[in-house]
Amino acid sequence: MNIYNRFQDHLQSELEAIKSSKLYKDERIIVSPQHAKIKISSGQEVLNFCANNYLGLSDNPELIEAAKAALDARGYGMSSVRFICGTQDLHKALETTIAHFFGMEDAILYASCFDANGGVFEPLLTTEDAVISDALNHASIIDGVRLCKAVRYRYANADIDDLERQLQLAQSQRFRLIVTDGVFSMDGNVAPLDEIYRLATKYDAMIMIDESHSAGVVGQTGRGITELYGLRGKIEIITGTLGKAFGGALGGFTTGKKEIIDLLRQRSRPYLFSNSLAPAIVAAGIKAFELLEQTNDRQDKLHKNTLYFTEKLQKAGFDIKPTQSAICAVMLYDAKLSQEMARMLLDEGIYVTGFYYPVVPKGQARIRVQLSAAHETTHLDQCIEAFVKVGKILYVIK
Ligand SMILES: *Cc1c(COP(=O)(O)O)cnc(C)c1O
Repeated sequence: MNIYNRFQDHLQSELEAIKSSKLYKDERIIVSPQHAKIKISSGQEVLNFCANNYLGLSDNPELIEAAKAALDARGYGMSSVRFICGTQDLHKALETTIAHFFGMEDAILYASCFDANGGVFEPLLTTEDAVISDALNHASIIDGVRLCKAVRYRYANADIDDLERQLQLAQSQRFRLIVTDGVFSMDGNVAPLDEIYRLATKYDAMIMIDESHSAGVVGQTGRGITELYGLRGKIEIITGTLGKAFGGALGGFTTGKKEIIDLLRQRSRPYLFSNSLAPAIVAAGIKAFELLEQTNDRQDKLHKNTLYFTEKLQKAGFDIKPTQSAICAVMLYDAKLSQEMARMLLDEGIYVTGFYYPVVPKGQARIRVQLSAAHETTHLDQCIEAFVKVGKILYVIK
C-alpha cells in the first residue's frame, strides 16, 4: 500500500465521521447573480434570505460599470504584492475612502478580512502584551490571536462583568487590546461598545472591532457600531470586509490610528506576502463607498425591512432573538427541526439556512434570516407567509 492509499483511507474515514455526525456541508449551486431573487441549479427561483448582501450592492449596475471601466483602464491583475509593484492610485484612493467612512486616520487593504485579522495582532503585540477577546469572536480573530505572542484572555460573549475580571487579570501586561466583533453573526446582537469603552478607559486598554457584519448596517448611516454608540474615531482599530455590505466581491481592510496602519504596512505578513487586490475590485469598492456618501436610502431601507420582518414574525408567534443588525435568528432549539424547516421553506421558495451545534451551542438550533436593502416588501411578505405556513405544519407556532 503506497503512502497515498493509506492517507486516502484515513481521509475517507474522516469524511465518513463528518457525514455520520451530520455535519457534512453540501453547497447549493446558484446560476444567477446574487440578488433578492436567485436561480439555483435545479432551475428553481428562490428568494434569498441568507446572503450578506445587506445593502443590495452585489449586482449594482454602477459597481459593475466601475469594475468594467477599471478592467479597461488598469488591466486585470497586479501580479505583485503592494510594496513591490502592486500599488495603483486606486488602492490608495480606496484606503483613504475607507478611513474616511469610519472616521479613522488611515487604512490598509488585504485580500480578505480573514487576512486583515490574521495580520493585525502579530506585528503589534508581543509577549509583554495582552489580548482580551470575546468568546464568540470570528474564527479569523481566533487564528490571528494564535499567531501573536501576547498573553490571551477570553471573556464570555458581550459579558461586561467577565470582561472586567479579565482586564483586572491583565493589568501586569504592558499594553492591553480588547477585541470584539461588532455584530455577532449567529444572534445578530451588537457588542456593548459603550460599556467596553468605559472599561477600556478604566483599565487602560485599547479597542479593536471587527465590523464585518456591522459596517454598512449598524448605525443610522451604517457607519458601524462606533456610530451607534457615538464613539466614531474614539477606538484604535477597526477591521472589516468588502465581501459583505460593500458589494460582496472580496477584500478586507484594517483602519485605525496612523502609526498602527504604518507598522502593519511594514510588518503584517498577509499584506507583505500576498497579492494585491485586482483593480476592478478596488474600483468597484471605491464606487460602493461613493454611493453610500450620496444617499442613505439603502441603509434606511435595510433598517425598515429589518423592523418590518422581525415585528411580523414575532407577531406570528415565532421566538426571535432581539437584533440590532440585519440578522434575525428564529429560534427552534432542535437541530433536526431547524434542518427540516429550512428544507420546507426552500420548497416554498425561501432560501434560508438552519444552524445547529457546533455552529451554535447545543439546544440552540435556529434559522438565521438575513435582511437586505435588495428585498422589496412583497419579498418580505412572501417570506413571512412561508414561515407561518411551515411553522404551523411543524407545530413551531399555533
Ligand atoms: C465574514 C467575516 C470575516 C471574513 O471576511 P472575508 O473578507 O470574507 O475574509 C471576518 N470577520 C467577521 C466578523 C466576519 O463576519
